[in-house]
Amino acid sequence: MSRVRVLTLNAALGPLDYRVPYGMSAEPGSIVLVPLGPRQLAGVVWEPERMPSDAEVGDNRLRNLVGVYDLPPIADPLRRLIEWTADYYLAPPAAVLRMALASASALDDRRTAIEYRATGVVPDRLTPQRAQALERIGERQGLVRELATIADVSDGVIRGLVKIGAIEAVEVSVDDPYPLPDPEHAPPHLSEAQTAVANVLVNDVDARVFAPTLLDGVTGSGKTEVYFEAVAQALRQGGQTLVLLPEIALTEPFLRRFEGRFGHTPVAWHSGLRQSQRRRAWRAIASGEAKVTVGARSALFLPYRDLQLIVVDEAHETSFKQEDGVHYHARDVAVMRARFEGCPVVLASATPAIETRQQVTLGNYRELKLPGRYGVAQMPEIAAIDLTEDRPERGHWLAPTLVTAIEETLSRGEQALLFLNRRGYAPLTLCRHCGHRFQCPNCTAWMVEHRLLARLQCHHCGHVMAPPKKCPECGEEDSLVACGPGVERIADEVAELFPEARRAIVTSDTLWSPAKAAEFVGRMEAGDIDIVVGTQLVTKGYHFPNLTLVGVVDADLGLQGGDLRAAERSFQQIMQVAGRAGRGTKPGRVLVQTHDPSAPVIAALIAADVEGFYEAETESRRDAGAPPFGRLAAIIVSSEDQREATDVAQRIGKAAPKVEGMEVFGPAPAPLAMLRGRHRMRLLVHARRALDVQDVIRSWLGSQEWPRSVRVAVDVDPYSFV
Ligand code: ADP
Ligand code: ZN
Repeated sequence: MSRVRVLTLNAALGPLDYRVPYGMSAEPGSIVLVPLGPRQLAGVVWEPERMPSDAEVGDNRLRNLVGVYDLPPIADPLRRLIEWTADYYLAPPAAVLRMALASASALDDRRTAIEYRATGVVPDRLTPQRAQALERIGERQGLVRELATIADVSDGVIRGLVKIGAIEAVEVSVDDPYPLPDPEHAPPHLSEAQTAVANVLVNDVDARVFAPTLLDGVTGSGKTEVYFEAVAQALRQGGQTLVLLPEIALTEPFLRRFEGRFGHTPVAWHSGLRQSQRRRAWRAIASGEAKVTVGARSALFLPYRDLQLIVVDEAHETSFKQEDGVHYHARDVAVMRARFEGCPVVLASATPAIETRQQVTLGNYRELKLPGRYGVAQMPEIAAIDLTEDRPERGHWLAPTLVTAIEETLSRGEQALLFLNRRGYAPLTLCRHCGHRFQCPNCTAWMVEHRLLARLQCHHCGHVMAPPKKCPECGEEDSLVACGPGVERIADEVAELFPEARRAIVTSDTLWSPAKAAEFVGRMEAGDIDIVVGTQLVTKGYHFPNLTLVGVVDADLGLQGGDLRAAERSFQQIMQVAGRAGRGTKPGRVLVQTHDPSAPVIAALIAADVEGFYEAETESRRDAGAPPFGRLAAIIVSSEDQREATDVAQRIGKAAPKVEGMEVFGPAPAPLAMLRGRHRMRLLVHARRALDVQDVIRSWLGSQEWPRSVRVAVDVDPYSFV
C-alpha cells in the first residue's frame, strides 16, 4: 500500500498522511486534493523525513487522496525554500506553501473565466454610486467582486449595472500564451564600464551556478540596462528570470522599459492582478512558458520551472520585508532561492543596505560597481537649507531659498519635485479651543486629514471619518486646526506661490493603479506638469530628463522615532530622491531642508561622502552588536483585551531561557500599543550572530500556552520597531 505525507494549505494543521489509491500516482511535489472532514483541500506531497508529523495514523485509518492535479509538481528547490523559510522565520510551512500556490483558482483547469466590463452604454439617470462605479471602472474588467472593489461600491451596485446593461459579461481565455521577449530586439550600446559588468553577469547566467552579486552604481548609472543583458542571456538559454521590485507602482514604468528593450512586456505578478490574470500567470510560470516575471515580493515563491536568474532591484528597500503573516525579507529569501535553484542573483542598488555590504566584506557576495552616471548626466549637487536661519513664512513650509530655486527652475521651463514622506494634508488635527486631538479609535495613531478626499483617515487600520464641523469634545464650532504638513498642504502652498504652475500630487492615494502611474509618467514626459509634490513613491525608478530641481521638505522626518536603521534609511531615501534630479543633459540641483545641517546624515549627503557615512554607520552598528553584527527577533503578543496581552507577555518573559550570548528586553507596550483594536506588548531578543535564535525561540514558545484570543507573532530580523 502506498502512503504519502501531504502539506495542506491549512496553516493551522500539521502535515497529514493519506493513502494513494490504486491507479493514482503521487511523488514528492505533486499537487493533490485531499479530504479533510467533510471538505476537500489542496496540498503538496512531501518527503515524510523532511516534514515530520506528530499526528501519524495507522494504515487502516488513512483516507484516500481525492486526486492529483495535472500540473507540474512543486520542484525540489522550491520545496527546500519553503522548508528553509518556515524554519528561519518561525512560520508554519503551510503558510509559506500558500505563497507558492498563490492562486487557488490556478489549480482549476477550466480554460475560460467569465468577467464583466462596461458596455459604454450609460443610462441617463444614475445613482451617485452607480456613476462612481462606472467612472472608476473605466476600461477595466474583472469579476463582480473585483469591479466592486475597484469602484469602492457593493457587489449589488455592480449587479444592478449589469441588469440595466451598463456592464456586460465576457468570456476570457486564461490559457492565452504570452509573447516571447526577444533578447536581440533593441540592445543598447553599453559603455566600456557597463560592458565589463554586464559580461560578468552574462557569464554567471551561462554557467548556471549560484552567484550572489551586489550591483552597486549611482542612480542613472545604467544598472537596469546592465542587468537586462543578463536577462537576455537567460532568454537565449530558454530559461526563466524573476525581477523583484519593491513596489507595485514601479511595475508600470518597468514594463514599458522592458518592452522597449525586449519588444514585449514581461509577465507581471502583484496583488493588483485580477483572478483570471493570476491564474494565467501562475500556470505560465509553472509550465515554464512565462520567461520573465516581474513582481512584488510575493512573486518569489512561485513555482518557476527553470529559474536561471533572479534580480532584486532597489535591493536596499525596506518594503521587501513582509510585515504580516510570514515575516520574511524578500531580498534574503531571494538569495536563498537562487542558492537552492543554483542560479545567479543580482541585488541592484545605488545605496546598498549595510547588511548587503557586510556580505560583500565577508566575501559571500561579489560586488560590481558602475562608477558614474551614463552619458553626460552628472550627479546633482546637494545643499542644505538651515531652517533655523532661512525660515519659511509663518504657517508655510518652504524656505525662501527653495522658493527662489523653484522660481528659477520654472523660468527655465524645467520641472521641480518636492519630496515629503507624508500622505494627506496634515498629520494631526486638534481643537484650538480645548486641545482635543483626533485619534484613531482602533490604533495608537492620529487621524490624518485628507482634504482631497474630505475625510480623516487612520494610516494603520484605514478607519475613516468625515471631518467634523465642531469639536466632539467641547462642541466648539470651526475650532479645528491642522498641524504640520502633508503633501497636499505643500501642494496648496505651491499653488499659492506659483498659481500658474501645473502641479501633481503623487502618493498612493493618487497613483492607486498602474494606469494612474502610467498617466502620471505620460504627463511628466509631455511636460504637462511643472511641479510634483510626492511621497517616497516618486523617489524610485522614474527617469524624467527635464526634472532638474529636487527639494526635500523635511529631511529630519526620517530620523524621528529613531530605530536602528533610521539614519541609514534617511540617507538612502534622500540619495534616491536626489537621484531623480538632472538625469538628462541639464544639471540637477538638490536642496535639503533641515533644522540640523550638522547631523551626520545631512553632513554626509552634502559632502557626497557616501563611504564616510557607511563606515561610521557600520562602526556604530558593530559597537552596539546590532544587525548585521548581532541578531534581533521581536515577539509581539496581542489581544483585544489589554490585561490578557500583558499577562501572557509577562508569562512568556518570565519563561525566557537563560542562554549565553542572548538578552531579552521587555515585555513592554509596543510603540504602537494598539493596532486594529488589539493591544500589543513586545519582547525584543538580542543575540550574538552565531546563536541559533530560532531554535531557542522555538523551544521557549513551544513550552508556553496561551488562550486562542491571544496572538503571538515572531518577527525574525525585524525592520519595523513599532
Ligand atoms: P539605474 O538603473 O542605475 O538608475 P538606468 O538603467 O535607469 O540606471 O539608466 C539611466 C538612464 O540612462 C536610462 O534612461 C537609460 O536608458 C540610460 N542609459 C543607461 N545606459 C545606457 C546605454 N548604454 N545606452 C543608452 N542609454 C543608457
Ligand atoms: Zn487605526
